[in-house]
Formats: sequence, C-alpha cells, structure tokens
Amino acid sequence: MIKELHNKLINKEISAVELTTEYLARAKKSDLNAFITITESEALEQAAVVDEAIERGEEIPLLAGIPASIKDLLMTEGVRTTAASKILENYIAPYDATVVKKLKENGLVMIGKNNCDEFAMGSSTENSAFGPTKNPYDKTRVAGGTSGGSAAAVASDLSIYSIGTDTGGSVRQPAAFCGVVGMKPTYGAVSRFGLIADASSLDQVGVIAKSVEDAEIVFNAIKGKDERDATSTLKHENIKTLKQNNGLRGIKIGIPKEYFSEGIDQEVGEAIADFIKRAKDLGAEIVEISLPHMEYALTVYYIIQPAEASANLARYDGVRYGKLTINNKQSTNNQLIDIYKKTRAEFLGPEVKRRIMLGTYALSAGYYDAYYKKAQQVRTLIREDFKKAFEEVNLIFAPTAPHPAWKIGEKIDDPLAMYLEDIFTVPVNIAGLPALSVPAGITKAGLPIGAQIIGGWGKEEEIFQAGKTLEL
Ligand code: GLN
Repeated sequence: MIKELHNKLINKEISAVELTTEYLARAKKSDLNAFITITESEALEQAAVVDEAIERGEEIPLLAGIPASIKDLLMTEGVRTTAASKILENYIAPYDATVVKKLKENGLVMIGKNNCDEFAMGSSTENSAFGPTKNPYDKTRVAGGTSGGSAAAVASDLSIYSIGTDTGGSVRQPAAFCGVVGMKPTYGAVSRFGLIADASSLDQVGVIAKSVEDAEIVFNAIKGKDERDATSTLKHENIKTLKQNNGLRGIKIGIPKEYFSEGIDQEVGEAIADFIKRAKDLGAEIVEISLPHMEYALTVYYIIQPAEASANLARYDGVRYGKLTINNKQSTNNQLIDIYKKTRAEFLGPEVKRRIMLGTYALSAGYYDAYYKKAQQVRTLIREDFKKAFEEVNLIFAPTAPHPAWKIGEKIDDPLAMYLEDIFTVPVNIAGLPALSVPAGITKAGLPIGAQIIGGWGKEEEIFQAGKTLEL
C-alpha cells in the first residue's frame, strides 16, 4: 500500500495535496470518533512541501506524502496533545516526540491525532474523555484499545498508517479487533521521548498499518537510538536473524499450551488453529512449548503497570500540568494540597483514578515488598520462560485476544473482566519482546480475529518475514 502510493506520487498520478485532501475529507466525514483532533492546515502544508520536492525532481522518502495519524499520546509540536484526558484538554505540545520528529524527516503528512483510552489505560477506548471509538466492522462494538482510534482510522482508510503505543497490548489488540496489522517492537527499539508516560518499564511505541510490509517500512523509519531516551539502546545490526527465504521451511514455531486454555472464544481458537496449520503447510515445524509462569502474567502486569503509572501521573496536579481548579493566589500549604485534590478529582477519569489508587497502594510502605517487589521477581521468571523457549524455537504463535470486539458498554462496569481480555498480550510487554498481530480470519458475525507472532529479543525482522508470508 505505502509503496504503491509512493509510486503514484513520484509518477505524478496524484499529488500529495490531492491525496491529503481526500483523506482529510474522509476523516472529517467519519462517524467512528477515531480522531480527537484533525490537523487540516498542518497536513496540507506538509503535503505541499512534498509536492514541491517532487516538482524539483528530488528523491523523496517512501513515507513522504503518505497520510498518517498519530495516537494522541505522543507530543506533536504546536498541536493539541490530550492523552484523551480532560486534564490535558487544551494542552499544546511544545515539542515533537522523537518518533514524530523522525517521521517529519521522512515527509510526514499528519491527518490528525487519534482517540485512545485516557493515558492509555483500558482495552477498548471507552475510557477516553472524548467518547469511545466505534469499530468499523460493527459500530455498536468497541474498536479495542488503547490505540482504538489508530486501528479504526487505518481499518476504515482515514489514514494509511498510525503510530500507537503498546504497554500491555494497546497496539496489537485494537489491530486485531479492526482487522489490521499491529506491531509492538522490542523494548528499547524505539525512542519513548515525547511519549506521555503510562508505565515506563513496559511502554513501547508501535505501528498500526494495513499490511505487514507497511508496518515494517514505518518501523524502520522510527527505530533507533535516541540520546533522549536512555532505554533506546537496541542495535538491530548486531542481531543475527534467520532468513526465511523458502516459505517457512526450517522455522520452528512454538505453541505455548498455556495460551489455549478454557475461556478462549471457539471461533478465535479455530482461526488460530487454521493459522498454525497454514504455517505448517508452508514448511514450518510446529512444537508445543510451555511457559510455566504465564498464569501469573496478568497479576504481575496489573501490579507493575498501576505502580509505575501512579508515579508518572503525579505530575498532573494542576500546577505543573493540567487545569487549575481554584485561584491559587497567596496559596498556603493547605490550599496547595487542595489544588492537587480538586484538580485530580475533577479532571481524571474513573479508570485512571483506580490505577493511581492501586499503584499507590502497591508501592506504599509495608506493602511494597509483598506487591511491587514480588511482581518484579515473578517478572524475571516470566522473562526466563520466554528466553528458554526461544532457545528451542524461532517464533511463538498465539491468539492476540481471547475474544473478538465486544459491545460498547458491555464491560465498562466490570474492570476485572476488561483486564482479563489482556491475558495474551501482556506477557510480551513483561518480557520486552517484539510481536505482531496479523489478521487471521473473521467470525460468523463478521468480526475480525488477530493472530499473534512473537519473536525473540530484537528479532523484528523474523516476525515481519513470517507475518508477510501468513497475513490474510
Ligand atoms: N489494557 C492494558 C491496560 O489497561 C494495556 C494498555 C496499553 O497497552 N496501553 O493497561
């Protein structure tokens, strides 16, 4: 898709401004609520610059002039950046996230900022202060989350690709729910500078695209070391990957038995079984593996994530960030506490408050050892499970989510039921591994199903190769 459009642009079959105008019109007309902000004038300006370069006969990057969108969790200079929260409703980002900067160097045309769950906490985009995003396959259903706006936009062709973020599944799960490709890089592969932090040891910027090839093109443009993010140290050139040039012959794929427990939707189970069978027909060797500590992954995640998020969100106090609720002239200490309390009570949503309370509890004196420290210890065991598995296999296959998209409102009053839907995605974040969700079928009711391809540390290339062979 990106390559085709690129060729049309350089052959002057269509101009970047024409293309952008078309996508802006579609985005404005859409009733999916996939965007919080549409950046019309910026997009047209960016497209005009690309057209001028083409006119001058310059060679342009593959991504130049391609209409894209960015999850509203990444800073975009001069453009409102809300994290889908009331507390940042009118916040204008003073600088670009490194990822955005890199895309601008590649001729980014940004159609707008995509809707998501508030501060990227949720699994359905229903926690957005700007209302839920609807699923393009069935508008009574959720688009998934937290990058639900990104997935819905790409699936309904309001943008060609979108940058999302994945702390516990937020790129892969909405991609699965909307029938598109979602890619979560290895922790440390992409800079997090300018990403509004959720849980820093888990957060990773990812890509939502219409094909695996497109996801790879975008990933290659955004990856790499950034001096502003000390964790972005991964050097792909130092990692040995296996070339899959003969279908999947010679590739060993592990199927973790823990992923196929009860509680998984029957049609999802069947689609994944088909997916595995296709890999086998293409020459892969399929073996059952075990990740014995998988059963603790969700618990570990829902201790570490709230703990880190509660610390990261302390800055939204109405003074440093966020709206001020009362006049703080001549404020005394008590008044200051009052400002904090009132601002946070009024402008943070219920799920974010819940996570702050859970996280603060897990980190508090007397409980820290029993919760946070213990969770970190079990995290190491989960990482070791994956490490051991990857000594034996090249890739791991699994469903992306246990169910297809649910009805809007169905799980909103049952946070635990919502958390349970993350069971297949969070282990990958806990271990910091790269993973891809690719379309693997459609249910009888017409809802997309995603299959997950998990790779070893730094082995993005291997998941891309397998994804390209197997995507539907
Ligand atoms: N659903 C998970 C959560 O609520 C993951 C969200 C994410 O990846 N940002 O924390």
